[in-house]
Amino acid sequence: MPIGDIKAAAKRKAKEKVVSTAARKVTGGGGRGSGSSGGRGRNSTSKRKSPVLIIVLVLLVAGAAFAAWHFGFLDGILGQDQDTPTVIAVDGNMVIHFIDVGQADAFFIVTEGGTMLTDAGSRSSGPRVVEYLQNMGVTFIDYVVATHPHEDHIGGMDLVLNAFQVGTVLLPDVSHTTRTYERMIEAIETHNITTYAPQAGHEFEMGGAIFTVLHPTGDDYRNLNDWSLSMRIAFGSISMVTTGDAEHIGEGAMLNTGLYLGADVLRLGHHGSRTSTGQEFFDAVSPSIAVIQVGEGNRYGHPHECVMERLEATNTRIYRNDLHGNIILTTDGTSIDIQTERAG
Ligand SMILES: [Zn+2]
Repeated sequence: MPIGDIKAAAKRKAKEKVVSTAARKVTGGGGRGSGSSGGRGRNSTSKRKSPVLIIVLVLLVAGAAFAAWHFGFLDGILGQDQDTPTVIAVDGNMVIHFIDVGQADAFFIVTEGGTMLTDAGSRSSGPRVVEYLQNMGVTFIDYVVATHPHEDHIGGMDLVLNAFQVGTVLLPDVSHTTRTYERMIEAIETHNITTYAPQAGHEFEMGGAIFTVLHPTGDDYRNLNDWSLSMRIAFGSISMVTTGDAEHIGEGAMLNTGLYLGADVLRLGHHGSRTSTGQEFFDAVSPSIAVIQVGEGNRYGHPHECVMERLEATNTRIYRNDLHGNIILTTDGTSIDIQTERAG
């Protein structure tokens, strides 16, 4: 039933760009609302001042504006939409947090223009995602991506959707019969969150980062993993490809799109399983850095040896949540810095 709505919306917008259309306003944002800032906006004076005084005033206003931007209520001052009251300052960088959620997925992208959470951990590790984001001061997430309806990707989704205000949920046009999936849909409906099912070739921008949807390319995949919403994210000359749990079928479809797949970073598909990161796909991406979201001692034996050998053969730097804990990648658009919780 809900997926019918999603489908209809997807068709309507098929040729449009994906635009954040947060239905709900950020009202009552505590002391940060427009109430306190509106006064300041009118604080300008029309009296004649000496040049020094004018310079001092300009600096004061600039300082206030910066503070306002920093704390996310510049929108209030300017009377603009309050769709993206992102709180976190990133100094012109793009920062990607690969959150250690065990044998599950969750990573959070922060730019000056907004935030995106891709997957929300499992049912058991979902609270870790919520806590991680709350510790960062997050209250609003522009985009939440549910790559596909498996529990290790959307298990914590209802917790996230209940804990934060969310602009748009991006998800593939496929449903699932599990209670986990129903909980996610219920949370979407409860909070009246806009959903959108993008297709390969769709593109959108957030804070200078360009997101190109690589997959799904069609609407007929037997395996839920192959529905995984996949993207190439470019920030300046730095880029990352992320493919959820897409397997060889999904990777083949991405290769067939003709979309450019080359990237500095590959967030490995399906936790490093041999079902994914096929040679041809890996060669097309040709990353120098691989990130594997995988849990210690998982029962699947991820990451699989043949995949690791593929990475090692090309001297790809490897970061794994099971070994490194939380992994934080920061880029200014020309270089990459990676900090990890543990040495690995
Ligand atoms: Zn998975």
